[in-house]
Amino acid sequence: MPKTDNINSIIDHKLFTEEDIHNMCVKLGKQLTADYAGKKPLIVGALKGAIFFLTDLVREMDVKAEIDFLDVSSYGDEMESSGEVKLISDLATDVKDRDVLIVEDIVDTGLTLEYMKNLLKKRGAKSVKCCVLLNKEANRTSDVEVEYYGSKVGNEFVVGYGLDFMNYYRNLRYIGVLKPEIIKLVNNK
Ligand code: 5GP
Ligand code: MG
Ligand code: MG
Repeated sequence: MPKTDNINSIIDHKLFTEEDIHNMCVKLGKQLTADYAGKKPLIVGALKGAIFFLTDLVREMDVKAEIDFLDVSSYGDEMESSGEVKLISDLATDVKDRDVLIVEDIVDTGLTLEYMKNLLKKRGAKSVKCCVLLNKEANRTSDVEVEYYGSKVGNEFVVGYGLDFMNYYRNLRYIGVLKPEIIKLVNNK
């Protein structure tokens, strides 16, 4: 556990324990193993939030898979989606004719996922699906399909297990809800 002395001052409550997260990875891993049987998918992790989930998920998948990463951003340090998605760092792999599975930490408005899916389809991927750990539906503005997800979450800001607040707290082993007063502090900055 990181010795983050001020963690109690920012986390309101735990939402998912390490065990909850592990169980989600096992369940999704089984589903993906069945659905990608006989295929050699390219697993595309969305940096940076998805790296923790991706490493746990792929080890629950009995599939011959390749791994690459894409960094797109719509947030910066903001707490709400800017509505604009930028490509920060591209894949090293050619996706043409590949079965691509995007792995993401959380889907909120859906704009980031829609951007990534469209980009990979435009490049000629054979199939493009996604597996997200958390599905936040309250602010969805895109009709992007979320093929696999670990759990739904309400309209609250979560941190830990890859999910950041101002680029920190990704290294928490659990997922917690940020105190609303912290969000207010940032919004009134
Ligand atoms: P979308 O484009 O779907 O609105 O936003 C997706 C990205 O916003 C996620 O990949 C994540 O980086 C960020 N995001 C959305 N909701 C949350 C949240 O509750 N906590 C954190 N830490 N990031 C979030
Ligand atoms: Mg993300
Ligand atoms: Mg972020």
